[in-house]
Amino acid sequence: MKPTVKVFSLGGTIASSGDKGKGVSPTLGADTLINAIPGISEKVKVKAENFRQLPSPHITFDDIQELVKAINKDIDLGVDGVVVTHGTDTLEESAFLIDLIYKKNAPVVLTGAMRNPTLPGADGPANLHDAVMVASDRKSKGKGVLLVFNSEIHAARYVNKCHTQNVNAFRSKPLGPIGWISENSVRILSSPMPTFSSKFTSNCSMARVALLKTAMADDGSLVNCVISDKYEGLVVEATGGGHVTPKMVKPIIKATKVMPVVLVSRTGNGENLRETYMFPGSEIYLYERGVLNGGWLDGLKARILLSLLIGSGANNSEIKKVFESYIDGKLS
Ligand code: ASP
Repeated sequence: MKPTVKVFSLGGTIASSGDKGKGVSPTLGADTLINAIPGISEKVKVKAENFRQLPSPHITFDDIQELVKAINKDIDLGVDGVVVTHGTDTLEESAFLIDLIYKKNAPVVLTGAMRNPTLPGADGPANLHDAVMVASDRKSKGKGVLLVFNSEIHAARYVNKCHTQNVNAFRSKPLGPIGWISENSVRILSSPMPTFSSKFTSNCSMARVALLKTAMADDGSLVNCVISDKYEGLVVEATGGGHVTPKMVKPIIKATKVMPVVLVSRTGNGENLRETYMFPGSEIYLYERGVLNGGWLDGLKARILLSLLIGSGANNSEIKKVFESYIDGKLS
């Protein structure tokens, strides 16, 4: 029997059209996207649903929480796997959030496109074909949420967008993709770290968390704005291995008294230091004053994890523990 895959379309470039010279926007539904893949129905029974018709910067946490409910419903009704088509701008954030809250074993695969259907070499049909192949393959079960792009299979836990236009727009840090698609065959050669099953990720709302990138000679006033605007959490993208300017120290310590503050690196690679530097604004200095270590997570992922944890009522020491487990690849 052919496997059944449900495709939820949420808009983005993959679903965009428009008049020449006037710009494109999402208008095409899931059926149109599926019909652009020759021969797909010979391999897989595909069901389609137009879930949202949005450019991805318009997608909200509520949209994604509702999507996960719809995915769970379809899987309970017997669908073998799910594909989500979505704009690429925030694709990594939706994938990471779904990965944190989706608890079932059936594959959930996100994809999109860099070239819209009106352009030569549009990549949407190939990406959707590959995503359907991955979602219908038993090897994809229990691997967490996956992102398929340009014939590569990425784990939502590691992937990020790394190019504004190239069709090879996604990469996985720190380890690279976990597999690829060769013709119609799915190759998965490694497993991402274990699935997150924390009690803090069900029935929660997302807290309002600010993400601040620091820069040379930063005077820290944006941290004061975060406090006075009553954000519930703060992620600081620090320089190097987790360092901020001397002027940022006071506002950051003030912030830790009213909200969890997580430190990540703005470098985009590697893990924060923990025990190397001691000067005002260094990693040791900040951790000793209540700042939490975001480890190897980038700012976007740390913000989503922190939002989810605060939104589900976790306190500072529980948040610290979850980040430590995440960094260590030992989730529970
Ligand atoms: N450039 C975007 C995309 O690739 C637009 C969006 O994210 O919706 O789909």
